[in-house]
Amino acid sequence: MQSNATVSTLFLSAPEMAELVRRKGLPNCLAGIADNIHHDFLRWQAFDKSARVANHSQDGVIELMPISDDSHYSFKYVNGHPSNTRIGLSTVMAFGVLADVATGSPQLLSELTLTTALRTAAMSAVAAKALARPDSRVMALIGNGAQSEFQALAFQHLLGIEELRLFDVDPAATVKLVANLEGSGLKLTRCASTAEAVRGADIVTTVTADKTNATILTPEMVEPGMHVNAVGGDCPGKTELHAEVLRAGSVFVEYTPQTRIEGDIQQLPADFEVTELWEVLAGRKPGRAGREQVTVFDSVGFALEDFSALRFVRDAAAELGVGERIALIPQLADPKNLFGLLRRPASPRDAARLLEASPSLA
Ligand code: NAD
Repeated sequence: MQSNATVSTLFLSAPEMAELVRRKGLPNCLAGIADNIHHDFLRWQAFDKSARVANHSQDGVIELMPISDDSHYSFKYVNGHPSNTRIGLSTVMAFGVLADVATGSPQLLSELTLTTALRTAAMSAVAAKALARPDSRVMALIGNGAQSEFQALAFQHLLGIEELRLFDVDPAATVKLVANLEGSGLKLTRCASTAEAVRGADIVTTVTADKTNATILTPEMVEPGMHVNAVGGDCPGKTELHAEVLRAGSVFVEYTPQTRIEGDIQQLPADFEVTELWEVLAGRKPGRAGREQVTVFDSVGFALEDFSALRFVRDAAAELGVGERIALIPQLADPKNLFGLLRRPASPRDAARLLEASPSLA
């Protein structure tokens, strides 16, 4: 059978993603991804969902995160190795694919390390918009590593946060954050402890990395009306909140079956009541009950957020002409003749189609 169909995949490297974000503007990227997440969470029932598949090892985890609707499929490969920074590697590294469901053709192969930081911050902002007090202006930011600036800027641009109270056990991380956010317009206050940073804050974001059942936030630190955005507890045996902090308020999650395994609620019985955020966004369940209520977003990172981010990246790359077309999939004149690809020289038609799909090979 002769085929006219072609598969060419757009490839976005980490430097190309950085270029895309610089040209589009970080606040626009955060807002665009947040919009896609909100939109996709309202289509919750349209997705074929599952908890991610996690392979654990002594120092970390490697996870695969698939999801699809009727038209698109995506997956992300992501790791979590808190001790990596000691040897000069990132704690979190990721890449992923957006594919066409009708044919299975991969449309986009993209870096997702930078994109994960963007989408996690956008997700936190979507949750906080629904759950935090609308007049929230001060946020404590505990853990000042790779994710932290993105969290800070998402809360500034999407929530109206004006002041950050910072703490990290590694003072150099806070120095780095302060340098990176100079000129952002945020008031930045360095604190000597988590307790000091949290005092008087409207929102508390915990985004620490340690493969242990940590108690970054303890019950006596929690004040009435606080919103807790707990980002770093995302793996079995890796939590950030004292269990009583979870009992002190209402807990909201992305996808319950995954969060029961990975989230801070892993410390609590399987019937501990939680609300899925999509239900709040869709108006099916209440969010914050009043000014005094403590709300907790027990974030672990769900595949749908990467699906939303990949759609944003695909559209922005097309708009800006960023990325390159690669021949990830063989282009075959006869799709049944895969073996023919091994014959040299390639037929002129195959060679022409390969080049058409990937001008960089020319
Ligand atoms: P990172 O290693 O770059 O930074 C983590 C920071 O936490 C470090 O600066 C470290 O010194 C600090 N820290 C560790 N223990 C602390 C403590 N007890 N008190 C204060 N600070 C402490 O990691 P990262 O890429 O910024 O990721 C942070 C966390 O967020 C990780 O646990 C990661 O797995 C998680 N994460 C979650 C999601 C999600 O969707 N929920 C997405 C991405 C990353």
